[in-house]
Amino acid sequence: MTASRSARERKAASEAGPLARVKIDLDAQQQFAYKISCSVCVAKGHRKWSTYRPGGDNGFMAAMDRWTFHLTEKHPGADAPCLAFLSAAQQRLHERREQQEADPTAISDDLDT
Ligand SMILES: [Zn+2]
Repeated sequence: MTASRSARERKAASEAGPLARVKIDLDAQQQFAYKISCSVCVAKGHRKWSTYRPGGDNGFMAAMDRWTFHLTEKHPGADAPCLAFLSAAQQRLHERREQQEADPTAISDDLDT
């Protein structure tokens, strides 16, 4: 479990690029919960940016999507492998919003970049 967690952490960190700090916790269901924070926004004394998504692989996808949006909006000059999946991330965000319109009780903070 521990080796697998740190391997996933390294993989997520390499996809997220040099600006990201990736940490994986276990949630209440003993699933991986991904936390990505932004080293630039912390270092500059701006409002600290981070996203936390439980739920194993789904959490990984959701956290990485939010990170990708943060990078494109706040750090447009930055380079990271995850930016290659920007259009896929936007497509998933669009689908989540449609689901949310169908189910307004669903919680989302995707707009909070
Ligand atoms: Zn940032």
